[in-house]
Amino acid sequence: MMLNTKNYDYLIVGAGPFGSIFAHEAAKLGKRSLIIEKRDHIGGNMYTHTEEGIQVHDFGAHIFHTDNKEVWNYINKFAEFNGFTNQVIANYKGDLYNLPFNMNTFYEMWGTKTPAEAKAKIEEQKAAAGISGSPKNLEEQAISLIGTDIYEKLIKGYTEKQWGRKATELPAFIIKRLPVRFIYDNNYFNHRYQGIPTGGYTQIFDKLLDNDLIDVQTGVDFFDNKDAYLAEFPRVLYTGMIDKFYDYKFGELEYRSLRFETETIDTDNYQGNSVVNYTDAETPYTRVMEWKHFDYKGASEDKTIITREYPQDWDRTKEAYYPVNDEKNTALYKQYAKEARTNKQVLFGGRLGGYRYFDMDQVINATFNAIREEFDLADDYRFDQN
Ligand code: UDP
Repeated sequence: MMLNTKNYDYLIVGAGPFGSIFAHEAAKLGKRSLIIEKRDHIGGNMYTHTEEGIQVHDFGAHIFHTDNKEVWNYINKFAEFNGFTNQVIANYKGDLYNLPFNMNTFYEMWGTKTPAEAKAKIEEQKAAAGISGSPKNLEEQAISLIGTDIYEKLIKGYTEKQWGRKATELPAFIIKRLPVRFIYDNNYFNHRYQGIPTGGYTQIFDKLLDNDLIDVQTGVDFFDNKDAYLAEFPRVLYTGMIDKFYDYKFGELEYRSLRFETETIDTDNYQGNSVVNYTDAETPYTRVMEWKHFDYKGASEDKTIITREYPQDWDRTKEAYYPVNDEKNTALYKQYAKEARTNKQVLFGGRLGGYRYFDMDQVINATFNAIREEFDLADDYRFDQN
């Protein structure tokens, strides 16, 4: 079989952000790439499509946020970003609270009005729970940050259904993704730059890949011809699951999966917010997104589209969304990573290739670093300026 038909410099497995940016930058340096993507579309989990003029994020809400100016400038070359700021509402058994944990939440929970009052309340609950020293798991981390009331109403149920395991069996770092602030500020993120690309994310990938030196084949699975690909391509960038690449020889890494239920509704405004989290343990979904509130441009005025997000167990027939970075999986991943480092032909990247709970900006930054290394670019080579 002839797979490397054009004397490509690179085979890139996966058309998500890592693979697409790599191909784009490699093309600028005169290198030819073939991208193969097993899905029928590019963009990985950032893929969006338009329906009723509304940008629907097919793989869950993707809100771009970063402190990295190079990454921000770079992504802005491929789309115009609106001024969206994520402000999530939590619904716990019919009561509404502001997220992330801030003075509004503390007021709604306890009626506290000043930072001193809120801090005193948290300290009191932390002491009653007997939490001291460095937190060993997500539960201890959460209680030590914001006390037991907020932990029980806004974190425990959500976290345990999201991850399918006890909060005491989860790494503390997961909850540190959410800001805790003693000011009245509902911005879900602490980053300086934030927004949604007007017209969706897919256009970014169309532009990245629109190059004579890049060919893209969708609906093509690397594993249908793994040996032949490896025999024919001098260099391979692989962004799929690293354990699968090595035929699970050290064991299977665990992931958490999601299922989405999307509905078009004949109303102009269904829930009045882009994201509402359902933080009790009983509601089977974790959150409901109403897509028009992310980006109003072009959106239908009398219809709306909502998506319910259901966490689910992962198995090989399902999409792998979240790596489960607990001790066991981290140790297993390290075995694969060690093996990968000795591989002179294949470069591993992205969320699945690196088994990391990456945000979009982190993937992009990791791609930049991989390109600097691959092409021996100077450490201060700026992708937003070249
Ligand atoms: N989380 C929570 N309650 C919420 C929202 C988040 O307990 O209402 C916890 C949960 O453990 C989750 C983590 O915070 O996995 C990180 O949330 P984030 O919104 O960053 O998750 P993502 O959007 O990446 O799924």
